[in-house]
Amino acid sequence: MILKNISILYGNQLKYIESIDVKIKNGKFEKISNKISTKEKSIDCTNLLLIPGFVNSHTHIADSIGKDLSIDADVDSKIHPMFGLKQKLLKETPKKSLVKYIRNSAKSMIKKGITTFIDFREGGLDGVLLLKFALDNVPIRCVILGRIDYYNSKNEIKQNLPFPKENNEKLAQLLKNCDGIGISGTNENASSNLKSYAKTKKIRAIHAAETKDSVNTSKKVTGKSEVQRAMLLNPSFLIHMTFATNNDLKLAAKNTRGIVVCPRANSALSEGIPNISLMQKYGCNLTIGTDNVMINSPDIFREMDYLWKVTMGMSQNRFDPKEILKMATVNAGKMLNQKIGCIQENHLADCIFIDKHSLDLEPINNVYASIVHRASEKSIKSVMIGGEIVHGKL
Ligand SMILES: [Zn+2]
Repeated sequence: MILKNISILYGNQLKYIESIDVKIKNGKFEKISNKISTKEKSIDCTNLLLIPGFVNSHTHIADSIGKDLSIDADVDSKIHPMFGLKQKLLKETPKKSLVKYIRNSAKSMIKKGITTFIDFREGGLDGVLLLKFALDNVPIRCVILGRIDYYNSKNEIKQNLPFPKENNEKLAQLLKNCDGIGISGTNENASSNLKSYAKTKKIRAIHAAETKDSVNTSKKVTGKSEVQRAMLLNPSFLIHMTFATNNDLKLAAKNTRGIVVCPRANSALSEGIPNISLMQKYGCNLTIGTDNVMINSPDIFREMDYLWKVTMGMSQNRFDPKEILKMATVNAGKMLNQKIGCIQENHLADCIFIDKHSLDLEPINNVYASIVHRASEKSIKSVMIGGEIVHGKL
């Protein structure tokens, strides 16, 4: 397929090119240049702007059935991995209902231009298989980070209880069926667990410094910060870091491929706002996620809009909207270490076709600002994943 005369955001700097031709073959961008001549089917895209498909870098899609339940409860009562309402809900709801609402959320994300999401999946191997079943026939890409539901008490963490041998087999089975592990946090895991999980060659991710409470608990129980202890996992990336100290950010910048911030989820839980200016200052690679569907809607347009403005409002300083858009696209490709989230030769052809003349956008005087805080589901003409149109028409 050849897209003729299309505007694009090219490469890992999202460089705006007013008009160019794009050839897509075998699910990838094969050639991007002026005037590609061909006998192949070509489509005139004069009115369209092509941007990379969004990567929603952190979700818990399985709790889609729990939308806005116990909205006034504190964070632990809602989503604690051992005793939160969410766990009860996931255990007690018939699988059929969970599947229905997972599927709805996945379909909704595609319509909003999300072409990949990275999900933390609880419930061990069964949880992973349930998610895979729910996504069967939904063309979105999903990076599944599973976990074996094994947690330690504060005392067990203090004693550094050894990782039970029988868990190794469970972990191996789990990892055969998913893309890596997504650990709830250091406050439920003895160092021996984290070190065992660190051995996997697949993706290793963990929540860290999400709340003031979790930061204080870690200090009190172990004398170390959550982020210091998270390093035992040799993490590929960290989630939240809302209450990370300067030292924590230094560790993250040096030892991980990124931080996923979830500003709307943090705010919805009244648990602060991640300081992305500071994270950037320390050289962290930043991405963005919408977190629990129970708490927040899986919409990257809204997440970008919120993050951009809350960052400038809190810091009373300007923040470049292009950097926000990178968080939802190219930075995520870097974090996953995959050729994804970027319109460039040899990268996966996952992208969004934006109608340049849509009511909310025209005239586009600053393409980055327009996408970050004006575009929405309504500005999308179609969505492509792996070279196939999966939503809308061209
Ligand atoms: Zn999370």
